Amino acid sequence: MLEVKDLHVTVEGSEILKGLNLTIGAGEVHALMGPNGAGKSTLSAVIAGKDGYEVTSGSITFEGRDVLEMEIEERAQAGLLLGFQYPVEIPGVKNIYLLKAALNAQRAARGEDEIPAPEFMKLVKEKVGFMKMDASFLQRAVNEGFSGGEKKRNEILQMLVLQPKLAMLDEIDSGLDIDAMKVVADGVNSLRGEDKGILLVTHYQRLLDYIVPDHVHVLVDGRIVKSGDADLARELESRGYDWVVEDSAA
Ligand code: ADP
Ligand code: MG
Ligand code: MG
Repeated sequence: MLEVKDLHVTVEGSEILKGLNLTIGAGEVHALMGPNGAGKSTLSAVIAGKDGYEVTSGSITFEGRDVLEMEIEERAQAGLLLGFQYPVEIPGVKNIYLLKAALNAQRAARGEDEIPAPEFMKLVKEKVGFMKMDASFLQRAVNEGFSGGEKKRNEILQMLVLQPKLAMLDEIDSGLDIDAMKVVADGVNSLRGEDKGILLVTHYQRLLDYIVPDHVHVLVDGRIVKSGDADLARELESRGYDWVVEDSAA
């Protein structure tokens, strides 16, 4: 589904990703872990098409298409979605309008008609309930005055409505209490499916007790230096990252 090959990325003149390789198949959940500053957020931002990153060599393909040739909106419409891809705060734009506009843009890209209003309301209400959010949320401006936990829930709500083929979620557990984290994890788990991939960027293992990944990768200094299954995340939790760095240097 997604194939990243020997990716080199520069930010403001310094090389952040230094030959990164990653393949995500349909139906797979991949966790990307690693110390602060390793380049985890850079990778998801580059895949999503955010500004400010220069790809100096390597390739990214998604379902056979050259991602680097696609505009940011095209990527989202192709089903490649980063949480909070949409602006963090949009003053005056109600949450529900953004959701509807994003969903209709996706449908238009597939040659489908706009979603009928009653169908949309039914869908959104179901997902809002699933995320244990108050319906009044939908009428508030996007992320305006949202707490950290509300932003995270809203990020997952967006994913549940848009059902991307590949969902990329960056540090969705940060700042959440345990109950909120379980709701967020349930939301992510409900996205799992045979035809879908998930890239979960996380610094801590805790989230992976609730969203058990099929593959775990450790990113250190711009490269994936170790890959394994869920056990690797547990090993990192008890041993830290230093041993991986030392092993990879040896
Ligand atoms: P991680 O998510 O693994 O903590 P990041 O991808 O956020 O790491 O950052 C990797 C490195 O790139 C860091 O050294 C960071 O300071 C640098 N970096 C990331 N984004 C920018 C930016 N917009 N401008 C300058 N440096 C950046
Ligand atoms: Mg290289
Ligand atoms: Mg980060």
